[in-house]
Amino acid sequence: MKHLTILGSTGSIGTSTLDIVVAHGERFRVEALTAGSNIELLAAQVRRFSPRLAVVQNEELAGELRDMLPTGCSTEIMSGVEGLIAAATLPETEMVVAAIVGAAGLVPTAAAIKAGKDLALANKETLVTAGHLIMDLVERHEVRLYPVDSEHSAVFQSMEGHRSHDISRIILTASGGPFLNTPTEMLQRVTVADALNHPNWSMGKKISIDSATMMNKGLEVIEARWLFDLPAERIAVNIHPQSIIHSMVEYVDGCVIAQLGTPDMKAPIAYALTYPERVPSGVKPLDLTELSGLTFFKPDMERFPCLGLAYRALAEGESMPAVMNAANEVAVEAFLQGRIGFSGIAALIERVMESHLPHDLGSIADVLEADVWSRTKTRELLPA
Ligand code: NAD
Ligand code: MG
Repeated sequence: MKHLTILGSTGSIGTSTLDIVVAHGERFRVEALTAGSNIELLAAQVRRFSPRLAVVQNEELAGELRDMLPTGCSTEIMSGVEGLIAAATLPETEMVVAAIVGAAGLVPTAAAIKAGKDLALANKETLVTAGHLIMDLVERHEVRLYPVDSEHSAVFQSMEGHRSHDISRIILTASGGPFLNTPTEMLQRVTVADALNHPNWSMGKKISIDSATMMNKGLEVIEARWLFDLPAERIAVNIHPQSIIHSMVEYVDGCVIAQLGTPDMKAPIAYALTYPERVPSGVKPLDLTELSGLTFFKPDMERFPCLGLAYRALAEGESMPAVMNAANEVAVEAFLQGRIGFSGIAALIERVMESHLPHDLGSIADVLEADVWSRTKTRELLPA
């Protein structure tokens, strides 16, 4: 039986993780659940899974959650970063599913590693902002890190049984999102609803917008750089609108190994939870004969400037990826609130990056400082 903490249990990845837990009840015990503000769903999850600990964003929500639970409920309720760290480091927990969205996931994820917990990592922003520090911690604390992001899970699966020094490059696939065929001049006028309407995947709002701008693929290039220890020149991106091939690894002999499947996050989540075993994940089996075709092409860097910004941040290194990530989080939020147009997202991030001089990040505290600097700068540049 594997004992789990699920950080971000009310989100898209969190709820899919709990679906797997329910389907394989004999394999898992949920020790802790955390959410931001969706306390209705968290209360239902607490009743269902009876974790030792449940965590919400602040003390006020913690009070509301306590009132929603039956008297005699033994689940301890905590709040804030302190609560997230307690959930990530709970003595009974063996594996932490890191499924908080954004840089808010960094501190609890780092705490989990320091406490020796294995990780199923969905929160890509952790590696984008602090990749070198996180991979160092993983090595030092001898924990196992399983990627949940579908592309990275595909690469991980395509590398099994192979020697990493035989890899010539990895090819991350990208659906291209809802605006793949939208003329560039129309992009400024697309609505929030258009941008949230992803053709192949059902996901949280932030990553859905990131997919529409292709910043998501940029973040994934940086994530891959750290997970697989490959330089940017050896991480390619191919647009593949059908999202059937989840990514590929090309070896020095010219052979390419790919991982395929119906686009559903339950498959990579289940693999991270039960590795090296494979269990039924509830994902619809793939019938290639039902598909009209699989296509691939190079991304249009003009239509999707965020992808170029991410490669640039990776090349500049040091604090730049953390600054880019935080600027993106603020810009996406501003777009969702109707404060800037869709094309304004990339423009804003670029201005913040241009006003930043990268510097070394020696600790998680340094990363948080760069993150705060960038958020402040981005907000200053927002229209009033
Ligand atoms: P989501 O918005 O659906 O869920 C986020 C979860 O984090 C929720 O439980 C929310 O309550 C919690 N949360 C949000 N802000 C918080 C904060 N400040 N403090 C504490 N908790 C907070 O997001 P998601 O789509 O499930 O994505 C989660 C992570 O997984 C992201 O990093 C995303 O990039 C990554 N990811 C998601 C998918 C997907 O299909 N959804 C695929 C690959 C990777
Ligand atoms: Mg992905």
